[in-house]
Amino acid sequence: MVPMKHQDGYIHTPFPQQLVIEVTAACNQRCIFCGRSYMERPKKTMPRSLFEKIVQEVAHESPYTEIWPAFMGESMLLGNKLFDQIRYAKEIGCQKITLNTNGTRINERTVPHLIECGIDRLIVSCDAHTAATHALVRPKTRSNGEGLEEIYRGVLLLLRTLHKRNLRRPLIEMQFSVFDENEHEAEAFCRFWLDQGAIVKIRPKLHWSGTVADGGSPACSHGRKPCLWALETAAIHWNGNVVMCAVDCEGKYVAGNIEIQTVKEIWNGPLRWIRELHIRHRFNELPEICRKCPDWGVKKARAYFPDTFWEAEYEGYLRQGRIFLQQHYWREAGPALRQSSAALH
Ligand code: SF4
Repeated sequence: MVPMKHQDGYIHTPFPQQLVIEVTAACNQRCIFCGRSYMERPKKTMPRSLFEKIVQEVAHESPYTEIWPAFMGESMLLGNKLFDQIRYAKEIGCQKITLNTNGTRINERTVPHLIECGIDRLIVSCDAHTAATHALVRPKTRSNGEGLEEIYRGVLLLLRTLHKRNLRRPLIEMQFSVFDENEHEAEAFCRFWLDQGAIVKIRPKLHWSGTVADGGSPACSHGRKPCLWALETAAIHWNGNVVMCAVDCEGKYVAGNIEIQTVKEIWNGPLRWIRELHIRHRFNELPEICRKCPDWGVKKARAYFPDTFWEAEYEGYLRQGRIFLQQHYWREAGPALRQSSAALH
């Protein structure tokens, strides 16, 4: 597969830069803005053999592809099984792993595992700075479950432990998705966590491609651009279905299945055509989920850093894969094409 750079700078990569793997669709929260709260497909756990097949392919094909072992579920509910899976992926050569969690399982017992299993970046999606707002936007599925206070306690313990041991990984990123219900707490959230030494990400409202109803901005509005989710990310449901993108929670567009295909085949098959339509701005020809999606510009979030050291660490981590992918293209392209692609980079 030859890398192709279009005139507006978008690149077809031979493998996704990020791969979202739904190790479980179980969750202990029922967030008002999460697609999972509205989705109808079964909420089960991915067989370990399927997870291993996927990460083996990543290790072989594109070790710097960033693996996200979380999609429409809370992966930390798997307990030690999750840490074992992450350890396995790291041991066979996967270089970048980002875990996105709601933070309810970060505590004295799990902090050592989070530090030692090989996670490079931990994103804690909190979306509130007071217990009342947290209970409103992220209601628990059990009345005696963890609230914001426990989550904050767990993350602070993790930060303190990393600091004490002088460790730079995992990078700790506190995420706040902005909605009408929590907007007023975004600034206080940001200030608090920067003071604690965490990176903060403020994310615009996501509609899970129309699953969470409030309309969003018109999908084909003037100025629509190719969606970075389509161009960079592939997502796999627990049953092996590779879907449109990392916000296709219901599986409205299934491009293939990992039980019988490889990530590379699907990425360079049906998903390649989707990317082509985005890059050529032929949005009206996209499958309905993508054509009508209000989330095409949401992937980019705003990051804030406690200081320049962590900014450099974070950017270095993100860049790692890009350097590899560049080398990877060249290896795959062969000498003749290297010459012609040199002008493109
Ligand atoms: S436009 Fe929407 S459905 Fe299409 S790839 Fe982007 S986020 Fe996914």
